[in-house]
Amino acid sequence: MERAVSKKPRVALVAHDHSKPALLSLARDHESTLKELDLVATQHTGELLARHTGLTSVRLVASGPLGGDLVLASEIVKGRIHALIFLCDTTQTHPHQSDIKALLRVATLYNIPLATNPATATLLLSSDMLKPATHLEKPRRIREASPLH
Ligand code: PGA
Repeated sequence: MERAVSKKPRVALVAHDHSKPALLSLARDHESTLKELDLVATQHTGELLARHTGLTSVRLVASGPLGGDLVLASEIVKGRIHALIFLCDTTQTHPHQSDIKALLRVATLYNIPLATNPATATLLLSSDMLKPATHLEKPRRIREASPLH
């Protein structure tokens, strides 16, 4: 069975602008859990965390509107991300809507835990799924099957 390289679960964090306060609040509430994880974030999300929380070693990728969502999607396809917390603002239209859709689609397809609101993110961060483990299984894509009729 393939194994991920990192021993820490790698979690990607993205928050749209109107959802950034909710992400900050979530990060403060779960800072000790998040500090045990290998975190990667889109640029402004990660910078915000570094500025306002103790989460100072978040790896940054490009901002969402500049392709960051696609970078994260690519890392998911390579099995390098174990969970995605993506606090979406569903009240706005976004210029990078197609990238957002691609990231959500790939996270679903590769069957990684995916939280798109604070309630689900709280469940995820409170669960054992992201506890650091000696061996992490590489996320596996959902197997297609014939639809049930
Ligand atoms: P950001 O990107 O973290 O750079 O703001 C997120 C987004 O808006 O998709």
